Amino acid sequence: FFSSVKMGPADPILGLGLAFNADTDPKKVNLGVGVYRGDDGKPFVLESVKKAGGAYPHMEYAPISGPPGFVGKAQGLAFGENSTAIKQKRIASTQSLSGTGGLRVVSDFLARFLPSKKIYVPNPSWGNHLNIFKDSGLDVQRYSYFDASKNALNFEGILKDLNAAPKDSIVLLHACAHNPTGIDPTKEQWAEIINLVSTKQLFPFVDMAYQGFASGDLDRDAYALRSLTETVPNLALAQSFAKNFGLYGQRIGAAHFVCKDAEEADRVLSQVKILIRPMYSNPPIHGAHIVDTILSNPDLTKLWKSELKDMADRMNNIRGRLVQELAALGSTRDWSHITKQIGMMAFTGMSKAQVDRLKAEFHVYMTDDGRAAISGLNSQNVQYVAKAFHEVTK
Ligand code: PMP
Repeated sequence: FFSSVKMGPADPILGLGLAFNADTDPKKVNLGVGVYRGDDGKPFVLESVKKAGGAYPHMEYAPISGPPGFVGKAQGLAFGENSTAIKQKRIASTQSLSGTGGLRVVSDFLARFLPSKKIYVPNPSWGNHLNIFKDSGLDVQRYSYFDASKNALNFEGILKDLNAAPKDSIVLLHACAHNPTGIDPTKEQWAEIINLVSTKQLFPFVDMAYQGFASGDLDRDAYALRSLTETVPNLALAQSFAKNFGLYGQRIGAAHFVCKDAEEADRVLSQVKILIRPMYSNPPIHGAHIVDTILSNPDLTKLWKSELKDMADRMNNIRGRLVQELAALGSTRDWSHITKQIGMMAFTGMSKAQVDRLKAEFHVYMTDDGRAAISGLNSQNVQYVAKAFHEVTK
């Protein structure tokens, strides 16, 4: 029965992790997958999560759209406690299997109900976006995002391409800490993008995988989402708690649909449930319990926010260290973009050939597009990685 099944390629990011695990060199460094590590290089469980994860009320099924307590907290975090859209009960929300599951539920919903199947995705974007949208049956188009010659945002390109997108097209927007470039529009640039999306009647689909991870400030990182919510009649959001709560393997997130009014939100949520029920019936409960417990307890919320800030600060500091080490080694290349970028990723500007050399000669692993997960750097390996970067870019 399976004889005609052909071997498929390994996932470019997760496949890299397998290659890293198989590497026996003690100097090896994994800058492939975007997972936070402490300065000791070890996986990191937040204290707030440890405190919230213990006592457990039950092991029963959650509703199809997740426990209402958790879903309400997820809404508040994304849209803000004082959000009028929340007060007006016009956001249809469901728990999702982390950000990826949220993206998939939203894109399946959009493919089923929106008038246009065209989705404009920034170039570059997180690789899995393309798989998700194609698998949902959407027609993937790209819009310019990055100017490789300047290692900077291609703002004119964004405006030009979105201006040319037909009315009703879906536009994928990274809320903050754009992956892989680490470059976000400024507030002024966001205002122009949002104005364009609104006047051209495009449908914004926001991916927020790094709230709090970009600046250490949850509200600041939600700026674009909240500004959009005040401006456009409808939007969708995929929200992940993998990075900001360090709950990667718990697969905890949410999908939200901002609607015209509460009646529309009820209709939308009914269809979201109809979509989810035959897929996985209802979501896992543990991650939702942890997030809900932390956000329901002021002491735990305070602890969590300070831990989130510490993680964001560590990544910003290690960016600075990397650039300093490169200068100390005598690199004449301009690496300043690394400190200008934010979040978990550094888009180094290195070529595939240089990335291949890093892997083969230095056992430093990163994706072919030159993206390095800064979270894999620490005070023990930053000098070694700087030396490797310098050697392959001389
Ligand atoms: N969106 C972006 C931009 C991401 O970088 C990631 C994780 N790398 C995700 C979504 C989804 O992650 P998860 O499914 O683990 O929440």
